[in-house]
Order: sequence, then structure tokens, then C-alpha cells
Amino acid sequence: MRKIKVGIEGNGTVRIKLKKKKKVDRGDVTSMGGAPPLSFATTPNAAGRQGFSIPRHIINQMEIRVESIFRPKEPDVEVVYALTGFGTSVDNLHKFSSNEVVAHATPNMISYAAEKMVEHIRAERVEMPNLIVHIHSHPLGAPALSDVDKESMLKVAARIREMVPDVAVLFGVHAVGSEERRARIPAERVAENRLRWSSITRVHEVAFFDEYAKPVEVSIYE
Ligand SMILES: [Zn+2]
Repeated sequence: MRKIKVGIEGNGTVRIKLKKKKKVDRGDVTSMGGAPPLSFATTPNAAGRQGFSIPRHIINQMEIRVESIFRPKEPDVEVVYALTGFGTSVDNLHKFSSNEVVAHATPNMISYAAEKMVEHIRAERVEMPNLIVHIHSHPLGAPALSDVDKESMLKVAARIREMVPDVAVLFGVHAVGSEERRARIPAERVAENRLRWSSITRVHEVAFFDEYAKPVEVSIYE
């Protein structure tokens, strides 16, 4: 399912390319299991990336952020948010209004939305963070990257770095299950790059990647 949502705010002109580009900017990066593309090793952002950690109180905010958008008769609304911090840990969650940031429009549209996101983060934080984790939800889906996600991530990371040089940009896919009364299970790491927990109504699973779709290690701290 591919949805295209367009939000125009203020004075901007928005151009949407409906034709899918055949090539992404930095070669074929769609395989997760193979050797990383050559550009991986030379990219300052990704080189030597040792992963990052998330405090539990931020995981609680992630849960609220994603669950708060579910409404009757509107079961699969996507949501985009960002975690920011310094060095290798995040300490802030930023939510964006849904018409500013979209998850599965065309990569060019999502790249445009990345600008709005950076403006938003800049306005919310005293000092511009050097770690930005861009996360979007897959309601009733899996914590895996779609083709649109993979193409978009390269553009979003490049656009963010144009605006904030030397920032590390990572990505997360936040899958959330259907609603059903269940026992709360605290967040735990279920794979190198994946966290899972249950609220009293939904199972959450979040996987993290760099812009080349390579898994990025995540840990939880109290
Ligand atoms: Zn996605």
C-alpha cells in the first residue's frame, strides 16, 4: 500500500515527482546481508558508528506517541517522530504535526519534509544535537524497511546534513500491533538493532538502521 499525502504550509511550493527514479544517489544499498557499498566506509556519518542508547523514559514517550494516533475507523495512520541527543545517546523526543512530515510519500516529498523537521528540532532545543534518529511507524506492520523507506533514507540523511553539518543521522521503523488487552512487558533488546515491548494494549517493535539500511546497534539505559 502506497499512500501519498501532501501538506503545504506557508509560502512553499511543493513539487512532487510521481515517477520513480531508477537510481538512488549512492549505488545499490538495498541488500542488508551483503557487503556494505563502497561509499559506506568513506561517509563520516556512518564510519565507525557504534550504535546508541535510549533511556526508558524516552521509550515510554515513543509508546505514547505512536498509540495516541490510533482512532476508530482510522486504523493505519502513520506517524513520524525523532529522537535527538549528543554523542551516543538520545535524550529528547520530538513530535511533528502530521501535515509537516509524512512517512511513505515519494522520497522527494519526504526529503522536503526533513527540512521542516530540522527547523522544528532547532526551535525546540537550545543547542543543535549531533545525533538525530528519524523514526516512522508501520501500523499493524513489521519493523522492516520498505523500498520507499530505503530510497528516502539516503535523501533525508543528505538533506539533514546539508542543514546540520557533522550530525549523525539514523533511522527507526516502529511497528505496532493490533489492539487487544494484554500484560505489560518492559522493553528489551530482541536483536542487535531491535527493541520490543508491550503496552497493555499493543505490541511494539522498533528496529534501527543507518541510511544505507545497515542495522545499527541499540541499547536501553535506566
Ligand atoms: Zn516505512
